Amino acid sequence: MLATYYTEILLDLEDVRVTKVSTDNVSITIYLEQQRKPHTCPSCAATTDTVHDYRVQAVRDIPMLGKSVVFIVRKRRYACLSCGKRFVETSSLFTRYQRMTKRLQHYIISRFASPRSATSIAQECRCSVSTVMRYFGIVSYPKPQLPSVVAIDEFKGNAGGHKFQCILSDPANKKLLDILPSRKTEDLYAYFNSFSTDERSRVKYVVMDLSPLFSSVVRQCFPNAKIVADKFHVVRLANWAMESIRKEEQKKFAKSRRIYFKKSHWILLKRKAKLKDDEMHQLTNMLTVSERLRKAYLLKEEFYDMINSPDQKQLVTRWKAWQDSVLEASLPSFTKLAETVSKWSKEILTAVATGYSNGFIEGCNNRTKVLKRVCYGVRNFDRFRNRILYIANC
Ligand SMILES: [Zn+2]
Repeated sequence: MLATYYTEILLDLEDVRVTKVSTDNVSITIYLEQQRKPHTCPSCAATTDTVHDYRVQAVRDIPMLGKSVVFIVRKRRYACLSCGKRFVETSSLFTRYQRMTKRLQHYIISRFASPRSATSIAQECRCSVSTVMRYFGIVSYPKPQLPSVVAIDEFKGNAGGHKFQCILSDPANKKLLDILPSRKTEDLYAYFNSFSTDERSRVKYVVMDLSPLFSSVVRQCFPNAKIVADKFHVVRLANWAMESIRKEEQKKFAKSRRIYFKKSHWILLKRKAKLKDDEMHQLTNMLTVSERLRKAYLLKEEFYDMINSPDQKQLVTRWKAWQDSVLEASLPSFTKLAETVSKWSKEILTAVATGYSNGFIEGCNNRTKVLKRVCYGVRNFDRFRNRILYIANC
């Protein structure tokens, strides 16, 4: 008896009695029945403990020790002495018509919380792909409520026939809100206009990249919102300007040096303060080779410091100084960067004042990339959306 009791603890089973366990190379078969207890008649609510008969049913459970697990359950049917109704015993482990335990169903759904393919989940759970997909189909997310700060960004999701999707989040609470099927202007209008005017009017800030596309949608759909330029996108522009000068300069070098610069380009992009001693040494050598590269590097570093200014006043002062340095350096890619930054100055100042950014979404985007890699060719957008929201909310 004691041995059986331990089996039940190991299997995390309550109110059941294991009568036999058999095992082979691929599966574990566990014979069990529930404890007999009085049941309430579903028809007349009288209590009964009279067993009418037994039925044996095979129910799959969570695989164990690399083997599939099957419960052979001896299910009781009770008979109501008051009204004559016959009914199957209730259970916290089984659902009446399912050939899987409830906990296996939950287990399957929970597996979707990490970015992996349905095929791999099916293999782990010893079920078919269509079965695991059917269970995950239970998961769905309604349209969210709009918070006072909203962030929008695009990402290449390749889902449901569109190359780019949009990701909507709440940066103040670091919460992913929704995935939109495309980045097309008319789709964005349709989506945002599906919220009430009242709800849209309550949005105070919208964080976004420096794209005219988003800004026109935001201005029309959110009458009271200020646009916040996302810092991540802004500093990325400085990296692109740096890269452009690096590519121009390395064209002038002999082959071996050209290859070296191409391979070591990340040294020029990494923040100076984060360079290790040997990397610092490498940087110094790289910058002595080209005066333009050295100027570009200084502008890039200054730009980062400027964007990370603690307040708007300091930002404005540094901005002026930076613009003067750009004028002096006369590097086309940085002149262009200075123009872009001037065009979006109000939005960048708001970013420094509020501290809101899309940084959190970038993390989500990376997870989406992993998800995409393992589930290549997602055709069904709704499933794609539910999967990302499920991963983000677990
Ligand atoms: Zn009854």
